[in-house]
Amino acid sequence: DDAGGFSEEKFVANANHDQVRMIEIKLSQGAKPGHGGVLPAAKVSEEISITRGVPMGVDCVSPSRHSAFNTPVELLQFVARLRELSGGKPVGFKLAIGHPWEWFGIAKAMQETGLLPDFIVVDGAEGGTGAAPAEFIDHVGVPMHEALLLVHNTLVGLDLRDRIRIGAAGKVTSAFEIARTIALGADWCNAGRGFMFALGCIQSLSCHSDKCPTGIATQNPHRWRHLDATDKASRVHNYHENTLRALRDLLCAAGLNDPSELGPEHILRRVSPVEIRSLASLYRYLSPGELLRRVPDHAVFHDYWADARSDSFQPPARIQALRSSKSR
Ligand code: SF4
Repeated sequence: DDAGGFSEEKFVANANHDQVRMIEIKLSQGAKPGHGGVLPAAKVSEEISITRGVPMGVDCVSPSRHSAFNTPVELLQFVARLRELSGGKPVGFKLAIGHPWEWFGIAKAMQETGLLPDFIVVDGAEGGTGAAPAEFIDHVGVPMHEALLLVHNTLVGLDLRDRIRIGAAGKVTSAFEIARTIALGADWCNAGRGFMFALGCIQSLSCHSDKCPTGIATQNPHRWRHLDATDKASRVHNYHENTLRALRDLLCAAGLNDPSELGPEHILRRVSPVEIRSLASLYRYLSPGELLRRVPDHAVFHDYWADARSDSFQPPARIQALRSSKSR
């Protein structure tokens, strides 16, 4: 709404549009988790103002946190509410994994309430945007492979994996990277970077300034008028088609019929000059329902699962005690 809060009325109007197929709540973005974003006033054209429901002439500020929920349980209640308001469309969320107890809190809330998202998108720390501070791009958030494994393992361990789809993103630009990400545990990959390159992006990192030299990320007609949309559209299309063709070739070469048949045993990694290991032997995969029976012998689960809370994203008491002993 005009005060920046969640408006059910506006949500219903947008979510029920035919072109909206699914709804994603963005908790955080891989390139700048916990940072929020700013669309500068200079970029709020009339069309954007109408589309986003924000006034022209002022910066459009997306805060770093949501006002519609404060706890893991409330997040899932919000997911359920959006599903209801949208007439049953799939609703999920995207997040960059930060502290393990935050994700574990959400997982415990699913277990306790039975409220499930239809999908979760894991955005790796290596995700890109030209508009993020370098400190965040370089140092904040968990990289995609480890984050994806944590989310996949948690859902398998809770016996929820077959009820929630997982998407993953983070520097996925080639067929092999799609294959490897699916082999690790994802159902699908999201990608931005490769498509931006196909469009002509030169990574000049000025998306937020309205001075994009290639005319892609600007509302300034002097800059975008030389962008030939017809020509660029076919380049983007070709990139996508050829990447999928290469993925098909990889699958055929491995004797597989569908990307979902890929598993960690298909990807080998050299770990020393004289040793290669499959991802299946490198990573500890939980068995279905394992978390329901006991805490697995896995460092992250061992250290954080028991203390995570479904009613708070705050650090567990044990971590808070450690912090206060440090400050003394
Ligand atoms: S070329 Fe344009 S879209 Fe690409 S990073 Fe630079 S400003 Fe952003």
